Amino acid sequence: MSYLEGLKDRRVAPTEDDLQGLDLLPHGLPDGPTPADRVIELLDRYGSPATMASNGGRYFGFVIGSSLPVALAADWLTSAWDQNGGMEVSSPVAARLEATSVGWVRDALGLPPGADGAFVSGATMANFAGLAAARHAVLQRAGWNVETDGLIGAPRVTVVVGDQVHASALKALMMLGFGTGQQLVRLPVDDQGRIATESLPPLSGPAIVCLQAGNVNSGSFDPFPELIEWARGAGAWVHVDGAFGLWAAASPRYRHLTEGVGGADSWSTDAHKWLNVPYDSGIVLVRDLAQLRAAMTGPYAPYLGADHPRDRFDCAPEMSRRARGVDAWAALASLGRSGLAEIVERCCRHASRFAALLTEGGCEVLNDVVLNQVLVSFGDEEKTKRVVASIQSDGTCWCGQTRWRGRAAMRISVSSGKTTDEDVERSARAMLRLARD
Ligand SMILES: *Cc1c(COP(=O)(O)O)cnc(C)c1O
Repeated sequence: MSYLEGLKDRRVAPTEDDLQGLDLLPHGLPDGPTPADRVIELLDRYGSPATMASNGGRYFGFVIGSSLPVALAADWLTSAWDQNGGMEVSSPVAARLEATSVGWVRDALGLPPGADGAFVSGATMANFAGLAAARHAVLQRAGWNVETDGLIGAPRVTVVVGDQVHASALKALMMLGFGTGQQLVRLPVDDQGRIATESLPPLSGPAIVCLQAGNVNSGSFDPFPELIEWARGAGAWVHVDGAFGLWAAASPRYRHLTEGVGGADSWSTDAHKWLNVPYDSGIVLVRDLAQLRAAMTGPYAPYLGADHPRDRFDCAPEMSRRARGVDAWAALASLGRSGLAEIVERCCRHASRFAALLTEGGCEVLNDVVLNQVLVSFGDEEKTKRVVASIQSDGTCWCGQTRWRGRAAMRISVSSGKTTDEDVERSARAMLRLARD
């Protein structure tokens, strides 16, 4: 508790001294027991200071949410329950809450009423599972069973991505045997990183088109209506990586950005980003659950028993699995539609405020701030890198570095419901002060 209370005022990144504290934890495996309270005390004394304060309001690195107190408490309860969330027979409560959570997420994100899916560790595994369902479906239509016969000798699958596809989707394609090189069709993007619709190539044969809701740098959205019409016209499977961007649909003000996204076949998203539940938690959803199940059901041992419709180990890569639906259930039960919309809108408002304050202060904002992402240049490459490094070590806030259209940039991602107006003002003041020095 004192850790959580300290987050408001502490520096965001640990100091060198804090990191050296980690050396004071035991190195070798202890020969005998240590009392449990002593072990936890050691973790708190030397571990807590070496954390990033990403569970507070002034961490704007990558796309990382904080934890709602209700979700954190549900997470502790989940651990106390210690349920294996793989099967309904191994945990009736996990199965029920996962089914409810997936349904609530589907409704909040405006996805088709029949869409269903499962919790996984994050959007990377959600991309993996969604694209595995895609691989199953397009090859089955071509008369090939990839689950039993593998990819060697299979009909060729055309895989299409945007030029700014997220690294995790490429990693998923790599793990699925599609590779990340020459055989991918990479479509050109516009100045915000959205796939350009002017010259879409003809598609034929088994094909998978991978789109994006929320560019990890700019926060932009691919134009779904045009792209999905084109892809589906060619019989392709459309997968949407919406790790954080899909949550725009939870807000009446930002929903328009996701227009048409419900026309896809599969979606991946994170709960540990914008829903503000603890790590790790992502969700894969598919229009037709049977396709996901076909891709994720292994040749099982008889002791696993009869199929229950709420079993999810056959819709996800893992067999034994944490009851991840519980945190998300608690977060959504507590927030309701309006509370969720408020988090999204507040983060977006903070992002616009950052853009305004930094522009006023003489910095250059490089993207159209349509959501919660802001890209900032402090001048040339050298200077921008230097300022980002000093912001990181100053400790008032933390932002990462990225490249945008050939330029070095700082990326601000406001993904924490804990960020206040005061956090934004204070952080922007620190950025401008460090940029001047
Ligand atoms: C964060 C992110 C991912 C990967 O999600 P993990 O939860 O880190 O696995 C995928 N796509 C986009 C657009 C993201 O922002």
